[in-house]
Amino acid sequence: SQLALGESLRAEFPILDQQVNGQPLVYLDNAATSQKPRVVLEAMSRCYTEYNANVHRGVHALSAKATQEYEQAREKVAVLIGASTCREVVIVRNATEGINLVANTWGSANIKQGDEIILSVAEHHANLVPWQLLAARTGAVLRHVRLTPDKSQLDMDHFRSLLSPRTRLISLVHVSNVLGCVLDTAYVAEQARRVGAKLLLDCCQSVPHMPVDVRSLGADWIVASSHKFCGPSGVGILWGRYEVLESMDPWMGGGEMIADVHLDHSTFAMPPTRFEAGTPAIAETIGMGAAAEWLYGLGMERVHAYEEKIGTYLYERLAAVSPRVTIYGPRPGGPRGRASLAAFNVEGLHATDVSTLLDMAGVAVRSGHHCAQPLHRELGVSASARASAYIYNTEAEVDKFVEALTDTIKFFDDMHGAAS
Ligand code: PMP
Repeated sequence: SQLALGESLRAEFPILDQQVNGQPLVYLDNAATSQKPRVVLEAMSRCYTEYNANVHRGVHALSAKATQEYEQAREKVAVLIGASTCREVVIVRNATEGINLVANTWGSANIKQGDEIILSVAEHHANLVPWQLLAARTGAVLRHVRLTPDKSQLDMDHFRSLLSPRTRLISLVHVSNVLGCVLDTAYVAEQARRVGAKLLLDCCQSVPHMPVDVRSLGADWIVASSHKFCGPSGVGILWGRYEVLESMDPWMGGGEMIADVHLDHSTFAMPPTRFEAGTPAIAETIGMGAAAEWLYGLGMERVHAYEEKIGTYLYERLAAVSPRVTIYGPRPGGPRGRASLAAFNVEGLHATDVSTLLDMAGVAVRSGHHCAQPLHRELGVSASARASAYIYNTEAEVDKFVEALTDTIKFFDDMHGAAS
């Protein structure tokens, strides 16, 4: 069928065809990092076997080819996120670096003592710590949007109450890597405009899974990591509206990012080059471009529709395992949807023990605070287990996960029963 992405894509992902602990691998840790299709592996391998050379500098044939492929990768990412020009796409190491770049350039130049930055309690550490460092340097004040009482969304009444003429920046997660909830970006962007604040969106968990169009999103910047959208690690993107990027001073200095260098001063290249000091991750960037092109080729609407289907199946099967299972975040089928991930706990069991036993059954899920410690405090737990699906996962795999979880709960109950 149209939606049968899962099974039909598996041959593209050689890593999925293996046994772990004597069982077929069920990889459900996609919110941490996705697997890579052959086209990405081959693009990177071609770079090293056919035209490896440094970019932007050489006149020789290999360097020209490497530069062309590198710049084409930027264009492919621009297409994936709907950027009107690839000059708005800054290539960074990961989303974390993208946020730090904004904090250290725009933030350092524009945030003063008493200015306010609005974040939420649901942010990944990557969207908390850079602002804490900036606030410590400048005397700015951080304000955090709370969750709704059912812990399924940001509390938008609270958000509105935090907005003031002192609000200079709003930086929020587009799709939560724990709750799976999807931010109402149109509303947030409208509120940001109303108070004259800039808006940064952490799109790590949206760009891989749904159509993201920066022209209609209303943000000034977005960040995303290649490794979560089928590309390699070590590379990611910061997209910024061109006028905003143009207004930003450089952060790191060195080769590539300059116009003219004198012994005591330099002038700088235009964006995006201004923010790309030193030799970049060339093969990785080319791999990221191949991933963006491949994903876009599948059709992001289709990707999103498949994930809604498998995500809902995952949620419903997991919820039915036992009344002792708590899944955090909104129920599927709500007005804003829900990502195809489920962070959960089983009453009486530790998330790490659950994940360890699932691994024995070949099922890879994550446990811990998922780099969202403040959010786990809000949820009243120190850790959770998280199963997160992607386009190549199947309902049969969700069934295996659910069976393994059922066995895990029984195993611990028997053990506790025997001990008491
Ligand atoms: N934000 C969110 C919502 C994430 O899920 C992640 C990755 N776990 C990040 C930021 C950070 O991504 P990276 O480590 O690739 O910079």
